[in-house]
Amino acid sequence: MSIDVRKLDLCVLPTPIHRLNWLSDHLGADIWIKRDDLTGFALGGNKGRKLEYLMAQAQDMGATVVVGAGANQSNFIRQLAAACGVIGVRCVAVTMAAPYQSPDRSHGGGWVGGNELLDPWLPIERRVFADATWDDLTRYSEQVAEELTKAGETVFLLPIGGSSPIGVHSFVEAGREIEAVGPFDWIVTASSSGSTQVGLAHAVQGSETRVLGISADPEPEIVDDLLDLSAAYCNEFGGTPLTRGDIHFDLDYVGEGYGVPNGAAVAAMDLLMQTAGIFLDPIYSGKAFSGLLGNLRSGRIGGRILFWHTGGVPTMFAAWQGANDD
Ligand SMILES: *Cc1c(COP(=O)(O)O)cnc(C)c1O
Repeated sequence: MSIDVRKLDLCVLPTPIHRLNWLSDHLGADIWIKRDDLTGFALGGNKGRKLEYLMAQAQDMGATVVVGAGANQSNFIRQLAAACGVIGVRCVAVTMAAPYQSPDRSHGGGWVGGNELLDPWLPIERRVFADATWDDLTRYSEQVAEELTKAGETVFLLPIGGSSPIGVHSFVEAGREIEAVGPFDWIVTASSSGSTQVGLAHAVQGSETRVLGISADPEPEIVDDLLDLSAAYCNEFGGTPLTRGDIHFDLDYVGEGYGVPNGAAVAAMDLLMQTAGIFLDPIYSGKAFSGLLGNLRSGRIGGRILFWHTGGVPTMFAAWQGANDD
C-alpha cells in the first residue's frame, strides 16, 4: 500500500543503517543499527519524520499557530519548534517537568537543561504546567488551543509526540528504508506515544519480522493505546489493524517511571559508546538498548536484530533533579 501524502523535506533521508561489528563480536550476535539519530533536522531524532507530514498538514489548513505538548525536556518540542520556524508559524508548547501515565505514578523530579537550552534559538512560546498525567497534559493543550482560537488564531493542535495517523504513516514509510538490507528477525525500538512502533509494525506486517517496543512509560494499558492508534491509522490509510499478537511490548526496562534514569540504561549507553562511538539518551534510546541487551540475554529475541536509534541525544546535556534532591 502506497498512498501519496504531501510532505515537506525537512530530514535527510534515508538515514544510514549499518552493522555494529564490535558489539556483535563481543556478544556473539548479529546486531544492526538504524540511525534516526541522524535524521538531520534540528539535531536529529525520530520526530523529524513525523513533522515532515504534520507541518504539511499545518500549511494545508492555513494554521497561524501550532500547539504541541510534551515534557519540558521533549525532543518532539525541540524539533516541532524548529519546523514551525521553517514554515513561519507560531509555536506554542504546553509542557511540564515530568508527566506520568497514571495518577498513582507521580515520581517528582525532572530534567534540567538539554533540549531546553536550545529555546533561545527557536520560535517557541512555552506554557509550563505543574506535573500531572499525560492525559492532563493533553487537556491543557486543548485548553490553550481553545484560548488561541478565541483570540482569532487558526490553530493546529498536535497529539503528544505527533502520534496521529499521519505520524504512523511516516514510520510505515521509514520501514521501507530497510528493505535493501533486510530482512531482520527483530526490530527493537523505544516506544512512548506509539507512532514509531505502530508504523514500523505496519511496515513489516505479514512478514517474519517482529517489532519489539521497549516502553519509556511503566503502564501496561499502553498496549491498548497502540492498538487504537493502529485502528485510527487504518481508518485513514486503509489496511488491516494490528492485533495483540503483532504488538511485542516490554515494560521491564523503564525503571521507576517516564524519564527517571536507571542504571541498566546507563550501562547500555556506556556499552554502545565504548563499542561503536554512538551516544544514546537516558529517557528513550538508552532504556531501549538495555531492553535489547536484556531480551537477547533471555533468548526472547535473536537472529538478525535491528536497533532503531530514535535519537534524543540532547538529553545528554541535561541533569536529572529528583524530588528529594536539593
Ligand atoms: C519521542 C521519542 C521516542 C518515542 O517515539 P514514539 O513515536 O513517541 O513512541 C523514542 N525516542 C526518542 C529519542 C524520542 O524523542
